Amino acid sequence: MPGLDAPLRNVVGGGTAKALAEGLDLFTVGDLLRHYPRRYAKRGELTDLRDLQKDDFATIFAEVVNVNTRKIRPKLTKTDVRVTDGREFLTLTFFNQVWREKTLSVGSKAFFAGKVASFKGKRQLTNPEVQVSDDEADAVEFAGAILPVYPATAKASTFAIQRSIRLALDTLDLDDDPLPFELQHRLGLPGFREALEGIHRPKTLAEKDRARARLAWDEAFILQLTMARRRAATASLPATPRRARAGGLLDAFDAQLPFELTRGQQAVGETIAGELALDHPMHRLLQGEVGSGKTVVALRAMLAVVDSGGQAALLAPTEVLAQQHFRSISSMLGPLALKGQLGGSDNATTVTLLTGSMNQSARRKALLEAASGEAGIVIGTHALLQEHVQFADLGLVVVDEQHRFGVEQRDALRAKAREDRRPHVLVMTATPIPRTVAMTVYGDLEVSTLDELPKGRAPIKTFVAPVVEKPSWRERVWERVREEVEAGHQAYVVCPRIGGDEPDDEPVDPADIDDDDEAEPDDDKRPPLAVLDVAPQLIEQDLKGLRVEILHGRLPTEAKDAVMRAFVAGEIDVIVATTVIEVGVDVPNATVMVILDADRFGISQLHQLRGRVGRGTAASLCLLVTDLWPDAPARERLHAVESTADGFVLSELDLEQRREGTFLGEQQHGRSDLKLLSLVRDRELVERARTEATALVAADPELSDHPALAAAVERLMTSERSEFLEKA
Ligand code: ADP
Ligand code: MG
Repeated sequence: MPGLDAPLRNVVGGGTAKALAEGLDLFTVGDLLRHYPRRYAKRGELTDLRDLQKDDFATIFAEVVNVNTRKIRPKLTKTDVRVTDGREFLTLTFFNQVWREKTLSVGSKAFFAGKVASFKGKRQLTNPEVQVSDDEADAVEFAGAILPVYPATAKASTFAIQRSIRLALDTLDLDDDPLPFELQHRLGLPGFREALEGIHRPKTLAEKDRARARLAWDEAFILQLTMARRRAATASLPATPRRARAGGLLDAFDAQLPFELTRGQQAVGETIAGELALDHPMHRLLQGEVGSGKTVVALRAMLAVVDSGGQAALLAPTEVLAQQHFRSISSMLGPLALKGQLGGSDNATTVTLLTGSMNQSARRKALLEAASGEAGIVIGTHALLQEHVQFADLGLVVVDEQHRFGVEQRDALRAKAREDRRPHVLVMTATPIPRTVAMTVYGDLEVSTLDELPKGRAPIKTFVAPVVEKPSWRERVWERVREEVEAGHQAYVVCPRIGGDEPDDEPVDPADIDDDDEAEPDDDKRPPLAVLDVAPQLIEQDLKGLRVEILHGRLPTEAKDAVMRAFVAGEIDVIVATTVIEVGVDVPNATVMVILDADRFGISQLHQLRGRVGRGTAASLCLLVTDLWPDAPARERLHAVESTADGFVLSELDLEQRREGTFLGEQQHGRSDLKLLSLVRDRELVERARTEATALVAADPELSDHPALAAAVERLMTSERSEFLEKA
């Protein structure tokens, strides 16, 4: 009898197995049984046709109202069958299937499965699969009163999937239930087999709900077990304790700091110092709003490590940011970064920059400084991850803006330390992450949060500029920019698109773009405004006379850096850019940001963007320009961003409004293993799973008392690894 790991072709026919593999990535019995229904239809209840979306593979139950066959060419007939749910109509088109007229008589009801297409503005299904409901065979097929409707493809229809699942369930040979019985009992959940039956062929909706609860729990629990085991594994690795020296570099830095640390910075600083002093590696995520002072916290940790004779590496997601970190860290350190140089202090160290765009000799010098231990702090981009980069004694890895890096890259950098001395790791992110997402995506890290901004920051005022209802705003926006520039300040103008020769309508996969600087295109609307169109217009008209430059991801690195440097130096008044300026860019004199087509951006993205202003003491302004009407749903997002400055509130909203897949995808760890679990609706469940998983791993680190559970965890880790390999 086949178990969960058995290949599908042992259970279903070869053709079906092939269709399931190719269309739906289902290879084993376990894969198939985790292909859960998209929804459930009550037997005899017509499907609401309003919900059909173009390109969906839909399964509908509808009543035939009209059948009509025409000959359109000598050997081609077309049978149009009009069906209804009682409100809306849909046309099904069959080519050369005149016999359909007999089975689909007016008034009969049937299931139809096919891809929703649009023909002359009307939705239709072409050559759908049909199951007439009062058919004898159908009665056997759909014995239950509740019909599961599966996500399907052209080759694997929901009917074929139903049949396959029935075969799989009827022949399934299950090991023990992976969930320890005591826990199952305590949580009041059904057993595993019962849950599989309940989700695929429930007799009542309540049964389906119970099944879902159990299977969602398994997803959360197994994932949290993986995380708990990773944390436990890290905690058992050896590391060198790194303590700041009294009267050393860190003390000298603190003494020259021009401001007082916030309470949050102090508290997190103490936590980090405590962990660095342990002989197991720290593994911590530091999250905090843009401008909350994470960099200072990270720098203090780096200095403690340098004090103890080790080195620290700071990994930034882009060249612009690596260079900016290099400049700002060098300037914060001042004489403390000038080891052996004129004006350098006795305690001083060397800060080294290593990026892909450096010339040969600069590179060689940087590599040497890292390898010899000369450099206390090495700042760089992905270039730091390359194999030939070596460190004398890497004690701390700081990863900035984690959402751009995957776990694998973190691991690659960690591997640069000696086996017996794993470096401490501090990950920073300015993207506030909802708690459940943090536990899922960063579940292997401990989390610290900086939740207050340094004193003396004027809050950023945000306004929606709705130019359809208030056309005068169109000019007012540019007037405000001029006013700020006249007062000696600078401005950003952000557009969703670069423009120029790029193909306008080509969907862009955000993962493919290095600087992630394009918003998602949308078929139905006009193309989003583009930097290369907006900039000339501003230069010639709206902002005539001001110094305007452009910045986007397609510019060569040197050009990007030159623009940023000139902006920092105050030689440019206005930068017209894509979201390349989203992360980390720090120009305190910039006081106004205009976001054009603001409705094309997500909530978190808007929040991130506006964090580029308000970095100094002057009052700052963010204008969200939109030409949507007030009743457009996307307008709500803008008003949310207008109404609160709390990034955590906004991130929860963002998570609720967007598909979770997109959200997780952006965190670079698309969790394809979460099929039922919702990080929005199942918050409590995720928290409970984490608690139970932590307790279980503490009591039984190898899960040796729970072999079935260990196997389930292993299955998840294997699929993660293979996903990573596929990506690499
Ligand atoms: P983040 O990395 O979290 O975006 P930064 O560390 O870059 O924030 O800090 C933003 C700005 O605030 C920097 O110019 C930094 O020097 C300054 N800053 C940091 N901490 C404080 C503080 N406690 N008081 C005043 N200014 C601070
Ligand atoms: Mg920063």
